[in-house]
Amino acid sequence: MHPIDCLPPLREVIVKYGLQAKKTLGQNFLLDLNLTQKIAQAAGVTDQDTVIEIGPGPGGLTRALLKTNARKVVAIEIDERAIHILEQLKDIDPRRLDILQADALTINVTDITSAPRKIIANLPYNVATPLLIQWLKQADTFSSMTLMFQKEVAERITAQPGSKDYGRLSIMCQAQTVCKRVFDLPPSAFTPSPKVTSSVVHFVPHTPTIPPKLYQSLELVTKFAFGQRRKMLRSSLKGLNVDVPELLEKAGIESTQRAEELSLQAFLRLAQTFQGFKTEHSL
Ligand code: SAM
Repeated sequence: MHPIDCLPPLREVIVKYGLQAKKTLGQNFLLDLNLTQKIAQAAGVTDQDTVIEIGPGPGGLTRALLKTNARKVVAIEIDERAIHILEQLKDIDPRRLDILQADALTINVTDITSAPRKIIANLPYNVATPLLIQWLKQADTFSSMTLMFQKEVAERITAQPGSKDYGRLSIMCQAQTVCKRVFDLPPSAFTPSPKVTSSVVHFVPHTPTIPPKLYQSLELVTKFAFGQRRKMLRSSLKGLNVDVPELLEKAGIESTQRAEELSLQAFLRLAQTFQGFKTEHSL
């Protein structure tokens, strides 16, 4: 038997260490180790990988990650109460597990880990999207990300043109990665149960990812295009402060089209063309 399987059940651990869930920290714990193992498996960890886990909490997913053949697991948790629990895991596997008490929003995970890296996390719902956006900007530094979101966020990430969920997040994610919703988990899988269903999304960065300047340009054109998603582009893009009909013509896009119907390829052409325009916006 693996030494991790000899640890007490998570429910007992939570009571012993007084880890009552705090809503402000987005704490919805996964206590079923079959489910945490399913997430770890979806990530396809190899013996070369450094796995970065954000928000390990009581350590259910961390247990599953330590049972893969990952070279290293780096767990970043903001809540001091959870750190005491995680130290027990460190006693079992001191060489492979590093625990860091920190706010993940303030940390550049590539500074503190070596490649190849995989991020695997049941993310706190209140900071999940800001963290994802932070990682997308440096997507080339990860070999994959396997992340739990509220289902509605997962639907926005993977949405295609024409759907109501298609928007800026879909474009930014799909410009940088191939992203797939791999499975859903009902509210009852978590303690305490959230109101909504959750989904695991697996992201594999494109090789290469798009250059930083083009990424910035894409952020800007999607900001205006989806800021008024039902308007025609000739009107919604006015805030870019360039000759919009000329911009659209050069990008090969009809000025009467709307953001919600435009493909990723068309947005990339638009962002590329916009880069060439003199603009008052600092890119
Ligand atoms: N991984 C655990 C599990 O699956 O049971 C806990 C997941 S819970 C949804 C989110 C975790 O992220 C909590 O442990 C919470 O304390 C932690 N957390 C919240 N905000 C954080 C932040 N800014 N940086 C690091 N961890 C954070």
